Amino acid sequence: MSESARKPPYDATRIEPERQAAWADRGDYEAPAPPPEGEHGVYVKSSSPFTSGNLHMGHVRDYTIGDAYARFQRARGRSVLMGFGFDAFGLPAELAAIERQIPAAEWVEQCGERMLVQMKRLGYSFDYDRVFYSSDEGQYRWSQWLFLTLHEMGLIYLDDTTVDWCDTCQTTLATIQVEEGGTCWRCHNEVRLIRRPTWFLKITPYLEENDANMALLERQPWDELALSTQRYILGRSDGVEFDLAGPSGPLTVFTPHADHAGLASFVLLSPRHPQVEEWVGEGTVREELEQLRSGGWERSARDAKAVPVVDTGRGVPGPDGEDLPVLVSPLVDARFGPTAALGIPAVDEADRDIAQRFPDRINVDGPKTQAGLEKSAHRHEEAEDAPPSAPVDGAVGAKRYRANDFSISRQRSWGTPIPIVHCPDCGPVPVPKADLPVVLPRDLVATGEGNPLAERPDFVDVDCPRCGTAAKRETDTLDCHFDALFLWVPATLPPEDRATQMFTHPESRKWLPAERQVAGGDSGGFVFDQRVVTKALRDHGEFAYMTDGEPFAGVLFHEMVIADGRKMSKHLGNVVDPDALVEQFGADTVRVAVLWAAGPAKTLNWSDAAIRFANKFLRGFWTYAHDRFVELDVARHDPEKAAETEPQREKLRGWCENGLSRIAADTADLQMHKSIRNLTRLFERIQQFEQQLKKRGQLDKADAEALVAAILLLARALQPFAPHTAEAILIDSGRFTSDDLPGVWPDAVDMPVAADDIPAVL
Ligand SMILES: [Zn+2]
Ligand SMILES: [Zn+2]
Repeated sequence: MSESARKPPYDATRIEPERQAAWADRGDYEAPAPPPEGEHGVYVKSSSPFTSGNLHMGHVRDYTIGDAYARFQRARGRSVLMGFGFDAFGLPAELAAIERQIPAAEWVEQCGERMLVQMKRLGYSFDYDRVFYSSDEGQYRWSQWLFLTLHEMGLIYLDDTTVDWCDTCQTTLATIQVEEGGTCWRCHNEVRLIRRPTWFLKITPYLEENDANMALLERQPWDELALSTQRYILGRSDGVEFDLAGPSGPLTVFTPHADHAGLASFVLLSPRHPQVEEWVGEGTVREELEQLRSGGWERSARDAKAVPVVDTGRGVPGPDGEDLPVLVSPLVDARFGPTAALGIPAVDEADRDIAQRFPDRINVDGPKTQAGLEKSAHRHEEAEDAPPSAPVDGAVGAKRYRANDFSISRQRSWGTPIPIVHCPDCGPVPVPKADLPVVLPRDLVATGEGNPLAERPDFVDVDCPRCGTAAKRETDTLDCHFDALFLWVPATLPPEDRATQMFTHPESRKWLPAERQVAGGDSGGFVFDQRVVTKALRDHGEFAYMTDGEPFAGVLFHEMVIADGRKMSKHLGNVVDPDALVEQFGADTVRVAVLWAAGPAKTLNWSDAAIRFANKFLRGFWTYAHDRFVELDVARHDPEKAAETEPQREKLRGWCENGLSRIAADTADLQMHKSIRNLTRLFERIQQFEQQLKKRGQLDKADAEALVAAILLLARALQPFAPHTAEAILIDSGRFTSDDLPGVWPDAVDMPVAADDIPAVL
């Protein structure tokens, strides 16, 4: 055999397509074998990308982590499903289609096909037969089914109310889509509030359970970032509540400052508080409230110095009989949800800011009780040091959640049509489930203005399903956030069964709850609402088997990929193109680089150093391994000499055992940067073993055999991260065939140590 056949150079352009073709031939990822009876499968749910543009480095980070975990579990012999689907509806695709003046459907198809090619080229072991687009009829008919089901359950309602509105995007936004400073999540322009009829998803009935389950999730493999986003979105405040005597019944007020409730000097009502009308009356105050609701102001930061406040001019007797002015402000919603809160400037900075805006109405120092007077004496001290007030009669422990129902309607044409018909006689009528899907015209070319669906008679004109009168279809579409409520479901069942059994397929039970969801750090809202909808469908019956209503046993959130310390953008010219990197260095180099460069909880500041490191490691290991395979064949065995080097082989085995157990533990924990570090360290140890022995002369066959065993162990442990390179090395060793792979994670170190351990036949 020629030298180059025995010692082939490291050539990713040869190795990677060869291995990918072998995987396709082996049918590795076609249809995962459902796990055997009594065993739960490993379902890895990676991010569902917006289907607009190409894969970017953030996707590469996400999918490489998920794929390494999936391959690791597969190599250990577990049944693994790596599911994938496109979050294909929504604004990014619609805006791109508007720019190109083509139907959004066409744009999405182009992008999806290109992204799939990129994903295969990177060696991701998704089950490609189960890939889906949320914009497919077969898929969005289930968004419509879910809408109707939640509507039947009273969890979806139409309300003429205040919504966040973006003038640039011409659309309403969910609270979650409004950034901290009151700007739009997409275009970052200022958002304002307007009033219009909107469909809402009611999540409040499940907040308490989402909260209670946090203790459960903390015991499961949820990483700290994922847990903290769930807590943040929930926005729980603990405190006390008690009743004040309102004009037509008790007004329950809440404060997080349980020990200082007696120092209250005003009451702040949410504009969405059910009793707000009682306080407003007619005239100027009502006008002000209407103005507040319809957004006649610049949306301020959620900051008490600028947030709109309406003074009702009325008051309510406080706990000590003092009159507490009643004011209305959305600041309450931003802090505690749609409730009534006590304003306690003595201990609360936001309340102090409000009080200072109404000096004639509000006593900043609290009521003139003994406690209040004491407080006055200490006014310059830190607010939190205020002495506790006397306990308030009837005050009981209470909590509030900031998380609240949110709008799911969008005035966009690239989205799931809402299955509702507006009848002049019956009002809004749900489309019967048997008539689903309500089909979105695929040839629609949006202009970016107005509402294109409303201008399509073939879509909008319809007979009322209840009385047959000429009626109009709802022209709002569902926010893609709504489609995403169940994007983790479709991959768990065969595509051919999705038309009838999306939420009821027996195979889904083998995969759900998902062992791991891997997603970007900004996915907390999606995960929160997916947890809510799981509980709703558990109560409705479909997901009864997920008894605690949790769809993800484990969640890993990773931070983003930036370059030069800044977010990648075309404008800054710092976009790293994964295709170019794969072209130049190969997929395995890119995979190892992106894993090694930073732990998932850290922002990955991209640099070429990571690529150079990864390429050098893979290239070095490749060459080293092939050279040693050849050397083993010519090594001689002298039992006496071999006995002398036994302690060194023992030491090598110890290194391998130690390295392997660390790599396995870190990989199971998705801390792949540590896995890669330990792989490279083990490689160094292996070389060290050889160098020490070579000082004595040629390696004995026993040593050469131990060396090759260590190399093969390293290659097997490298397989989840650099699958092409690792498999090719294993096959070139002559000890594995393509059919043995995958399924070769080394559970133990198999290495000959004793001098007479050398296999008689190789
Ligand atoms: Zn916008
Ligand atoms: Zn009707």
